[in-house]
Amino acid sequence: MSNQSIEIPIDLPDVQVLSAKKTEQGEWLIELESKLRGTKCRQCGQEVTQFQGYGTSLRVRHLPLFEVPVWIEWRPKRYRCGHCEGKPTTTQFVSWHEPRSPNTKPYERWLLKLL
Ligand SMILES: [Zn+2]
Repeated sequence: MSNQSIEIPIDLPDVQVLSAKKTEQGEWLIELESKLRGTKCRQCGQEVTQFQGYGTSLRVRHLPLFEVPVWIEWRPKRYRCGHCEGKPTTTQFVSWHEPRSPNTKPYERWLLKLL
C-alpha cells in the first residue's frame, strides 16, 4: 500500500472481493462473490447445496467512496433441488441486496437519509 492510498473494508457480509478497478468513466467497479454455500429451494423451502453454476452477473450501485460512484458486480450462485420433482434450480439470495433492485441495501438506506 503506497502512502497515497488507504485500504477500506467493503462492509458487506459474507463476500469475498475478487477485484477493484476504475472504469473508463472513472467510477469504482468492485467484483466480488458470495462466500455462503447453498440456499433454500424456492419450491419446497429445504436447504439445497447442489451447486448448479452461476447466473448472469449483476451490477448494482453501492455507497460512493470520496464522491466517486461505486458499483458492485457479482454472479449469483444457483443450486438444484434433489427433493422436488423436475429438480428446479434456485438462485442464492444475498442479505445485502433485494432481488431486482438496482442498488445495494446500504446504498438505499443512504439515499433515504438524504431525502
Ligand atoms: Zn425443493
